[in-house]
Amino acid sequence: MLRQGRETLTANSVEDAGLEAEVLLRHTLSFDRVQFYLQQDRELSAEENENFRQSLRRRLNNEPTAYITGHREFYGRDFYVDNNVLIPRPESELLVETALGLAANRPVHTIADIGTGSGAIAVSLALSLPQTRIYAVDISPAALKVAQINCRKHGVTDVVQLLQGDLLDPLPEPVDMILANLPYVREEELPQVNTWHFEPSTALNGGHDGLDTIRRLCTQAGSKLRPGGAVLLEIGLGQSEAATAFCHHLFPAAEIKLIPDGNGIDRVVRLLTA
Ligand code: GLN
Repeated sequence: MLRQGRETLTANSVEDAGLEAEVLLRHTLSFDRVQFYLQQDRELSAEENENFRQSLRRRLNNEPTAYITGHREFYGRDFYVDNNVLIPRPESELLVETALGLAANRPVHTIADIGTGSGAIAVSLALSLPQTRIYAVDISPAALKVAQINCRKHGVTDVVQLLQGDLLDPLPEPVDMILANLPYVREEELPQVNTWHFEPSTALNGGHDGLDTIRRLCTQAGSKLRPGGAVLLEIGLGQSEAATAFCHHLFPAAEIKLIPDGNGIDRVVRLLTA
């Protein structure tokens, strides 16, 4: 079945077909990697066979594996995901690392994760900074249900407060750090990437130049930041100049730094107010 799955996926140009077939088959059997290798001789029941074929069909329809299995790893931990949330990307781990780097050098008592989606960023921060109060905001009630599942799964329901609403509106107090992976895909690019057909457009569509929502957040940020507060924003390829320009315009006294991801793309804008 593994070989057949790999061949089917390869024939349909799915990348990493071997790994993908294994992940889907392990999901069908609820096996971890060790169980999987120890039971290579095990035959599939008719039901398991049908479930595996169903998973392959979904994958061939370009549905992301994370939605089929309901799992995605982020910052070394397992998160539940479904199609109400953006699938966490490895490059967003840079937001977490940057936030932790800042928190090591300055007092960070409160953090707001705006557009929390699956809650992967908020939960990762909560586990590393158990003394910090974290507000995780999303406009989508369905996304917040996913975030709640992940907060429970990782035991951080007392540290992370989930809030429904638009950007900074629901925050009950100014915070030391605002961080956000908001939608930043340019509207006209949305049809281009397969996974984007399955992911919620609210999480991706950043309007004409991709920066509409981020710009709106920055406009509101001044009144929701404590003195000396920081803003960390994830951005996409080719957006660093425009993003730096409006940040500088809105916060003329702030120190603004661009942090590149592993591919050398400016991924995080780090803004420190005086
Ligand atoms: N980095 C995501 C992608 O390229 C986009 C995420 C976002 O808009 N925040 O698929």
